[in-house]
Amino acid sequence: MNIQKIEQILKDQKQPKFRLGQIKKAVYQDGISNFSEISTIPKELRSVLEKERVLSFEVEKVLVSKDGNSAKALVKLNDGNKIETVLISPKTDIWSVCISCQVGCPMNCAFCATGQTGFKRNLTAEEIVDQVLFWKGWLLGTKSPIGDLVPRRVSNVVYMGMGEPFLNWEEVLESLKILSDPKGMSFGSRSISISTVGIPGGIEKLTEDFPQVNLAVSLHFPQDENRDAFMPANKNLSLEKLKIELEKYFQKSNRKVFLEYILFSRLNDSEKDAKNLLGYIKSFEKPQLLHVNLIRYNSSSNNQETRDKKQKITKADKFVSSSSEQAIKFRNYLLENKINCTIRRSLGADIEGACGQLAGKK
Ligand code: SF4
Repeated sequence: MNIQKIEQILKDQKQPKFRLGQIKKAVYQDGISNFSEISTIPKELRSVLEKERVLSFEVEKVLVSKDGNSAKALVKLNDGNKIETVLISPKTDIWSVCISCQVGCPMNCAFCATGQTGFKRNLTAEEIVDQVLFWKGWLLGTKSPIGDLVPRRVSNVVYMGMGEPFLNWEEVLESLKILSDPKGMSFGSRSISISTVGIPGGIEKLTEDFPQVNLAVSLHFPQDENRDAFMPANKNLSLEKLKIELEKYFQKSNRKVFLEYILFSRLNDSEKDAKNLLGYIKSFEKPQLLHVNLIRYNSSSNNQETRDKKQKITKADKFVSSSSEQAIKFRNYLLENKINCTIRRSLGADIEGACGQLAGKK
């Protein structure tokens, strides 16, 4: 919802200031998707506002996974660019929205479908928040094809879709304010997570501006050599520098950080890799504040398409998912060494809505 535009209309219509609060409540909290349906505002104002759209974009398609635990929306922005946003149910009674903050991503991680599409532009705060608004309305809608949709509300928001949040911090920060505002979407800060690949100064910005939001770091490789090869961001923020940023974060917040670790067969899933990861975590002053989330790699047809068009094998084809046995071995090694670790269930792989699969194409 474009708040500035609504404010201007209210001003032009000489409406009292509390009208904005009524509109925000109806849209952000009650999930009303059409201004003409807001019964708390005067009829004349409703007819002026009905020319405006609540969402800043059009949703072209929604795909629902076979197990009914996730859905992916293809969103067409006003300038024709496309992004994707995902709804997942990691456990019964919980719906999480995974949102994008950029069209594409400049970080170019070799295993990520978004990274392969390149970077087009940053999303505005409105476009970011509207992804949550869309899913909120979708869950409330009776035609949603996912089971019986209980509960019909979004519990968590994760900035883990397309893009790197700290490269669009101004708009991401604005979106965080709307999402957490008790008069806005009213999410508790602890229900919101930001995921970063590691940008110099990024974690510091979060500590200063929004310390209660959860932080996740996409680590994936415990050695600079491999991280450099597959995640170009590491050249600007090596593992040692990342550690310094995280230690500062711990000093100020004493809050847990999640290390995301995608398991690739033979690339980062051996016992030696687990030992390297253990060594990295143990080098922290408070290793108990780090929690490793293991995710088995999901391949993407976007990578396959790239290969077919060019008739040659691209970097992405190197990546194969670890077996579940190997993932369990890796986790057990960390657990035996007193590192908090969980294997995360991959959701939405069949609709290419899982980690690393979003490409804004389907
Ligand atoms: S993994 Fe994240 S940071 Fe890397 S290219 Fe994909 S979206 Fe960007």
